[in-house]
Amino acid sequence: MASICVYCSSSNAIDDAYPPVAEALGRGIARRGHTLVYGGGAVGLMGVLAHAAHEEGGSVTGVIPAKLQDREGIAYDADELIVTDTMRERKGIMFRRADAFVVLPGGYGTLEEFMEVLTLKQLGYHDRPIAILNVDGFFDTLLAFFEELLEGRFAREPITDLAQVVPSPEAALDRIEHVGAPDGSPSS
Ligand code: AMP
Repeated sequence: MASICVYCSSSNAIDDAYPPVAEALGRGIARRGHTLVYGGGAVGLMGVLAHAAHEEGGSVTGVIPAKLQDREGIAYDADELIVTDTMRERKGIMFRRADAFVVLPGGYGTLEEFMEVLTLKQLGYHDRPIAILNVDGFFDTLLAFFEELLEGRFAREPITDLAQVVPSPEAALDRIEHVGAPDGSPSS
């Protein structure tokens, strides 16, 4: 059983194609007996994800800064809601609680969170799985840019050495379960 930290959109205005994927991931996490760790909001894919995991009987931990509670909603679906003073604290708790990370489509916030766990892995601060759920090619442009970084030698390792690009929630969970236990020594 793993604690799976999911980063995803807080927007309610995105295409209808995305919420079902967040829902399937939430249900999958719960059905497989994992714990969901997420940003604690009730909006966008975050809300769909947490609601699905909770409805399926899974354990849900939300971590949200006090300042964002109005903006991102009250997470009625969180069994455990941790309210932090700062964004840094939120990110630190989510990071420390996670055995693995899944990145769903999202905006600047999601990308920021993703880039942090990616760069920490590159620097050897952790060795936990990161699954990029590439719904309908959402991340293709970013992945192509990562390729350019590698070709230009701005990046040392291909993205595929640090993260797995997967097509579905099931594939993300299969991958995480396959990689197995975390290194257990995260610090940053
Ligand atoms: P977004 O992808 O922009 O919809 O944001 C997704 C989540 O990321 C939201 O819960 C935001 O509060 C969160 N977020 C935004 N900026 C940051 C940041 N600098 N560090 C951590 N989380 C953030």
